[in-house]
Amino acid sequence: MPTTNDQRLMTRIGYGFDSHEFHSGIPLRIGGITLAQDRGLSGHSDGDVLLHAITDALLGAIAAPDIGALFPPSNPKWKGADSSVFLREALKRVRDAGYGLANLDATLILAAPKILPHAAAICGHVAELLRVQPDCVGLKAKTPEGLNLENTAVAHVVVLLERTKRARNATSKRTRR
Ligand code: MG
Repeated sequence: MPTTNDQRLMTRIGYGFDSHEFHSGIPLRIGGITLAQDRGLSGHSDGDVLLHAITDALLGAIAAPDIGALFPPSNPKWKGADSSVFLREALKRVRDAGYGLANLDATLILAAPKILPHAAAICGHVAELLRVQPDCVGLKAKTPEGLNLENTAVAHVVVLLERTKRARNATSKRTRR
């Protein structure tokens, strides 16, 4: 139970953005799902633009260092990495800070492929990774009309966190006495 001297906010909002460029001959990973396409998103890791934006939204909500600071592209350890590793670390930090994910809303901007046929699978997988119900994950996809982004995928994500019992590492003065 939150103690009376628990100064943490009841809710926190986070926002994440990411973009990656399409290249031929690499798998297309979006939301931890591999889509059958002849070109994918390049990046130091698996280029999963959606998981990167979600990771940054979670980290931003608790004012933690961003994905680039925690998993620097200069570190060969992250070359080709499954981006769910980044997401899990962000979720762990959120929980350690004493928060849980209430819901998430994402917008993807890309010319192709059509996301609608894959949306349920993507939302289901993201929900599983985040350990929330699928209806807590919103996903919209837009084509980049007028943006001249035919070769790029972009993701915008907002998350809402709710305070849980207490921060894992928090020791209140009351419990110390
Ligand atoms: Mg990225």
